[in-house]
Amino acid sequence: MKSFDYATPASVGEAVGLLAAHPDARLLAGGTDLLVQLRAGRKETDLVVDVKRIPELNTIHYDPASGLTIGAAVPCYRIYRDKVVARTYPSLAEVASLIGGTQIQGRASIGGNLCNAAPSADSVPLLIALAATCRIAGSGGTREIAVEDFCTGPGRTVLEHGEFLISLHLPAPLAHSGARYLRFIPRNEMDIAVAGAGVEVVLENGKFRSVRIALAAVAPTPLFLREAGEALAGSPVNDASIARAAEIARKTARPITDMRGTADYRSHLCAVLTRRAIETAVQRAREKA
Ligand SMILES: Cc1cc2nc3c(=O)[nH]c(=O)nc-3n(C[C@H](O)[C@H](O)[C@H](O)COP(=O)(O)OP(=O)(O)OC[C@H]3O[C@@H](n4cnc5c(N)ncnc54)[C@H](O)[C@@H]3O)c2cc1C
Repeated sequence: MKSFDYATPASVGEAVGLLAAHPDARLLAGGTDLLVQLRAGRKETDLVVDVKRIPELNTIHYDPASGLTIGAAVPCYRIYRDKVVARTYPSLAEVASLIGGTQIQGRASIGGNLCNAAPSADSVPLLIALAATCRIAGSGGTREIAVEDFCTGPGRTVLEHGEFLISLHLPAPLAHSGARYLRFIPRNEMDIAVAGAGVEVVLENGKFRSVRIALAAVAPTPLFLREAGEALAGSPVNDASIARAAEIARKTARPITDMRGTADYRSHLCAVLTRRAIETAVQRAREKA
């Protein structure tokens, strides 16, 4: 691996300054993607900027009125061990405990999962379903963007030179809401999703008040199925409505064929995973009611 300098800024401002002065700097949260890529020569840099010591990037804060803020570098184990997260956002705790194995979860962050911008990233469809937003820092200050608008292609994001992700914000869950992420992988762990589906539903008087669905590994970016959600809003909560959403997911997916599965198989999985994720999300919403 090519040698590089290593910096540990203690504030957002210091990190912004380092990035402005070093155009090829790479950010490091847990390093479970970055170090693999540097070692394999898929990425190069003269400076790694470790953001874990910046307080805003390493804290979890919940406010019942406004929701949950997770620092971009908070490792997965802290997310699923957090009692408030486990109780208030069980689907998020589940997805944090799904990424890699115990060792990976000790380092890997949800922020890194998003910024790595792999189409197969497990946390991203769920973040989209939960209507999460990104807080981004740069030399011009901070800006906010919806997670569904963050990834622009495999390994590419909206982050401009000198910008980085500070935190993710999830709105407070509504009454009668439930969420779930499901993926299919060839083995039980330590592999990339063949396909995944993240869902959040809000129920009202036996109908879907709103539904948000996003898919993993079936397009160049995590795929937000806005139309599937809109088609379901106002529909009765029954098998026919759920089947309609699953069919839209199957048709909207734009998968490729690779060693993990054919395009047809992935499309089929999108329908199955979407249906099952909605069914569980509905069950959770009813239990919470
Ligand atoms: C054995 C193994 C198993 C894995 N299993 C899974 C799995 O099941 N599911 C899954 O989705 N992924 C999996 N991964 C991939 C990886 O662990 C995840 O993507 C993880 O969430 C990345 O987080 P990190 O903190 O380690 O990111 P890092 O490696 O630190 O960073 C990832 C990328 O994001 C950039 N970055 C990091 N933080 C910021 C920031 N704040 N602002 C801007 N850019 C930033 C980095 O420069 C880098 O390009 C696995 C990896 C390994 C090695």
